[in-house]
Formats: sequence, C-alpha cells, structure tokens
Amino acid sequence: MLNIVIFGAPGSGKGTQSARIVEKYGLNHISTGDVLRAEIKNGTELGKTANEYISNGQLIPDALMIDILASVFDSFKDSKGVIFDGFPRTIAQAEALKKMLKERGQEVSIMLDLEVPEDELMVRLIKRGQETGRADDNEETIKKRLVVYHSQTAPLIDWYKNDGKYCHINGLGTMDGIFADICKAVDAI
Ligand code: AMP
Repeated sequence: MLNIVIFGAPGSGKGTQSARIVEKYGLNHISTGDVLRAEIKNGTELGKTANEYISNGQLIPDALMIDILASVFDSFKDSKGVIFDGFPRTIAQAEALKKMLKERGQEVSIMLDLEVPEDELMVRLIKRGQETGRADDNEETIKKRLVVYHSQTAPLIDWYKNDGKYCHINGLGTMDGIFADICKAVDAI
C-alpha cells in the first residue's frame, strides 16, 4: 500500500492536492476535517462535541480522533493505499497512526510537508471563508488555528524527519507546479 501523510498549516493546500493525488494514484482519502464537518452537518453527538472545538480553533482530543481514524481506515476494502489529510496533528496522533498501521502490516510511505508563508495562509483562508462560508475561516479563528498549528502540529516535522519519512514541498506556486513536485517525490519512493 501507498500510505501518504499530507501535512501543512491550515490553508497550505492539503485538500486541493489530496484530490489530485487520489485521482492519479487511486488512493482512498481520509480528511479528518471533512469527517467532522459531516458529523456537524448531520447533528450527531460527535458533531456537537466537535463543533465546540472547531469553532474555537482548537483540536479535538486525541483519543476521539484516533478512534475515528481507525474506523474510517478499516472501512476501506482492498485499498491501494490511503492519503491522510489533516491527521496526524499531534505527536500522540503520529504515534497512534504508526501503531495502527503496524498492527495491520502497513506503514506511512511518505510525509509531504506543504510549506507556505504565514501571510499567504491568512490571505487564502480569508478568501476561502468568503467563498465557501466555512465557519472557522474567519480572522479570529484562523489566528487561533495558526497558533495551535505552531505549538501542537509543527513539532511533527522533526518527528517525521526522525522517522525517515519527511519530504519538503514548496507550497507556493501554481497548483500544477506543486502537484508535479508531489508526483516526483511519490514516484521516487
Ligand atoms: P481541517 O479541515 O483539517 O482544517 O480541520 C478543521 C478542524 O477540525 C481543525 O481546526 C480541528 O478543530 C479539527 N480537526 C481536524 N482534524 C483533526 C485532528 N487530526 N485532530 C484534532 N482536531 C482535528
């Protein structure tokens, strides 16, 4: 299996590039943000809990996220591989992902870190908020999400470097140019 972690700050283009990777490599896609937004839309108990964290720019507790991830992963049958989009976001989640995959005879093949400067992230997210109405894409919540990214999620860069899976991708440029860099990295695995 080809298991890809697509990583980066909010607004770095993970969702956009994931869709292209899924199409080209025939992978299953897990976007934990999309899973949570669907729960909110359906008004489930999980959705109500998730909404309190998301609207405040905070992360959902690890134990809950790890259970959700395993159940989505196990729902895929005869998968060629999975792209993990928005997971892991903490060291505990990265460790849990490694353990979960190992128990299933799998591992992360590569971690793609889409790097985009902070001022550009702000511009992209505010634009997305205006275009899509996504509730957490407002200036106040974006700022909180970026603080959370730096304190809880960015340490995963060193974690994946130590694990030998890290690959830097310049996330500034055209969508096609960035996708070409991603394909080069994936094809070299
Ligand atoms: P995203 O769509 O990936 O930007 O996620 C939107 C929000 O969902 C985040 O700001 C978090 O509140 C929550 N979320 C998504 N994925 C995770 C995760 N792996 N761990 C904790 N919270 C998450």
